[in-house]
Amino acid sequence: MICLFLSVFAYVFQSGWTGVNERTFIAIKPDGVQRRLVGQIVQRFEKKGFKLVGMKLIQATEGLLKEHYTELRSKPFFSGLISYMSSGPVVAMVWQGLDVVKMARKMLGETNPADSLPGTIRGDYCVEVGRNVIHGSDSVESAQREISLWFRENELQCWEDTHSHWIYN
Ligand code: ADP
Repeated sequence: MICLFLSVFAYVFQSGWTGVNERTFIAIKPDGVQRRLVGQIVQRFEKKGFKLVGMKLIQATEGLLKEHYTELRSKPFFSGLISYMSSGPVVAMVWQGLDVVKMARKMLGETNPADSLPGTIRGDYCVEVGRNVIHGSDSVESAQREISLWFRENELQCWEDTHSHWIYN
């Protein structure tokens, strides 16, 4: 009942997913899937304490990707980025938790793997900016836009986290 209320509240007021209910959109890119990194990446988010509320393996269309990366359409690497992202399946996910947008970006590292510290996903698993394994929303507003672009409301699960009291005090 509480979940239903929260879903309706979040749908009507897009700012409903705040605090421990904040959500971010994470996508393991085609190179991450091909290189069998899915398990290790998912494990990092689980171990951190975030809650998985949506997940699917999807071959993204060029239309979806152009919309997703619309802010980058004037960049010289844009068409290469769309080809790369549509070259194979992507694992699209929604993770939930306190400050998840900011913390997930820290877990990812910098856009360019060369600037990413060891211990971050891009610092540990990739070399070139054009094959940087993972996407993560850069703000709460972007997360809301990206989640609604990639997921239907009924693809997101609201479930009781039985050990949340070991994550939050
Ligand atoms: P981020 O993914 O870290 O939020 P951006 O939004 O700036 O970074 O870029 C989106 C994606 O575009 C990057 O993750 C990367 O795959 C690709 N990209 C960014 N800069 C370059 C570049 N100079 N050359 C090739 N691809 C790039």
